[in-house]
Amino acid sequence: MRVEKRSVGDLAVFGGEPAFAEPLHVGYPHVGDRRRLLERLDGILDSRRLTNRGPLVRDFERRIAEYAGVRHCIAMCNATVALEIVTRALGMRGEVIVPAMTFVATAHALQWQRITPVFCDVDPRTHTIDPACAEALVTPRTTGIVGVHLWGQACDVEGMQAVARRHGLRLVFDAAHAFGCTRRGIPVGGFGDAEVFSFHATKVLNAFEGGAVLTNDDGLAEKVRLMQNFGFAGEDRVVHEGTNGKMSEMSAAMGLTSLESFDRFVEGNRRRYRAYRERLRSVPGIRFLEHPRDERGNYHYIVVEVSGDRYGLERDELLCVLRAENIRARRYFYPGVHRMEPYRSYFPHAHLLLPRTERLVRRVLVLPNGATVDEAAISRIAEVFHLAHRHAEAVRNRLRGSPRTLAATTASGATSHVSTTH
Ligand SMILES: *Cc1c(COP(=O)(O)O)cnc(C)c1O
Repeated sequence: MRVEKRSVGDLAVFGGEPAFAEPLHVGYPHVGDRRRLLERLDGILDSRRLTNRGPLVRDFERRIAEYAGVRHCIAMCNATVALEIVTRALGMRGEVIVPAMTFVATAHALQWQRITPVFCDVDPRTHTIDPACAEALVTPRTTGIVGVHLWGQACDVEGMQAVARRHGLRLVFDAAHAFGCTRRGIPVGGFGDAEVFSFHATKVLNAFEGGAVLTNDDGLAEKVRLMQNFGFAGEDRVVHEGTNGKMSEMSAAMGLTSLESFDRFVEGNRRRYRAYRERLRSVPGIRFLEHPRDERGNYHYIVVEVSGDRYGLERDELLCVLRAENIRARRYFYPGVHRMEPYRSYFPHAHLLLPRTERLVRRVLVLPNGATVDEAAISRIAEVFHLAHRHAEAVRNRLRGSPRTLAATTASGATSHVSTTH
């Protein structure tokens, strides 16, 4: 156990020993019962049924559909391809409205098909797409909306449905963050024309890599199934354009094993969320994203907003302090999808319509979560928050005068992005 940090000089940005010997990550993968997983993998190898909708993928699809209370689940290789296929199956083209406050894949899935993503602002409290902003962006070229259930909170589903209905638009929800969550007590999965889950390693329920399209529309489900398997309707009968979006049996084995431990994952997440809140309660300028008490959440993302005025340091300065301690917090989804290529070149003025997103991407910090973050770790993280706040001015002077600049901190963050998290 490392020594407690008592004075500002104990902070790693001043040369103190980092609070953690090993980095603590956002999106540290949950692993369920290893023996069950290995049994399943043995079964796959014995049967030689490795992919092409084998028994494990079928079982996984059935259980996910059941869990979400939706008629159809089509398991996919990942959520990005799932989004590409389902938006294409729904005939989206021209312009499609998406929030700018999301992981870049939401927009890329459209751009990849030469559909223009039109970036929409969000509700400043929930960070999810604002129906009024979306409606203001509808043009004669608009064919659909892809809403995002950010941080495991369903967006304003009813509001989005009303906009879609009024303008005759298709509506898909990117539910990559929201497996196991509810909206007004109804599980995410069955809203809109379709919803898409991600089972990427960093998500709350993982299949190594994986995704799924969920829908109650029989025709759409059939079309998506054809499109994910090259359009094959029989052994040598191709009846539709298609691609390869299939999930492998190995991924399904991991998905099924994860599902068996899902309640335990969420319970751990909730415990950590509460511990963070408790220990950071008295720090000025750190506001937690609220989880509505009457909804089921998965507590996978521990999201705070940093108010520089009240905390004493800007979000990026605090990030620097944390990174030096091996607390690898992330500033999702900085700088906003509209400021990433190719979108920033295509729409250099997009930010003018996105004042809330612009403000959020400068304030949001996502804190480490997962099995390596125990209560003691959360206490030490909180200690760092408290110390840096109490000595904000000294910390700021130190950061400004030190070669360990923010640029360096975030550049090294980009490396971890590749290896462990989105
Ligand atoms: C992770 C994520 C995706 C992409 O999921 P993959 O399964 O990695 O393709 C899409 N949208 C959001 C909001 C995500 O967080």
